[in-house]
Amino acid sequence: MLSPAVENLVTQLTKLPGIGRRSAQRLTFHLLATRPEDALELAHAIEDVKARVRFCRECGNLTEEDLCGVCADERRDRSVICVVEQPVDVVSVERTGEFRGLYHVLGGALSPLDGVEPADLRIDGLLGRVDRNGVTEVVLATNPTMTGEATAAYVADRLRGKVQVTRLASGLPVGGDLEYADEVTLGRALAGRREM
Ligand SMILES: [Zn+2]
Repeated sequence: MLSPAVENLVTQLTKLPGIGRRSAQRLTFHLLATRPEDALELAHAIEDVKARVRFCRECGNLTEEDLCGVCADERRDRSVICVVEQPVDVVSVERTGEFRGLYHVLGGALSPLDGVEPADLRIDGLLGRVDRNGVTEVVLATNPTMTGEATAAYVADRLRGKVQVTRLASGLPVGGDLEYADEVTLGRALAGRREM
């Protein structure tokens, strides 16, 4: 029913999270109706992030430089590291305004069923930072999901005896991602963190 080019754009859009076929069609027809230069701005923006954005050498957060904005900020408290699964979680924790330390982005959560092993995450990098940089506390802010909890338990084990390890207080919706927690709830969970 749709031309091959239109069908292809619909197919590409349905690969995005949360976009079903119906939404993909609506977006496609919207793009077809907009001026070419406006539609191409979207294409250029995608090209641009793929070309420019990389992982921070120190913490694994997203950056266009060698170091991310948090690592490069001299005013941040370098004695505390908040460990999260994904770069989007840094945004969530920052939004609470409750955390002034540094981050470490693991790049996922342990999930043997999906083939995600410790070596696939930035765990050695975290241990190196703790050994090297006078860190006194590591806050484990992985998601309150099965894989997030398993990851927190594993990382806590690896850090035991080296540094104080804390976990976000309960109160976050179990099974949900940090990304979807409101900043008040997440801020409270952070302020009420407890030793593991
Ligand atoms: Zn960084």
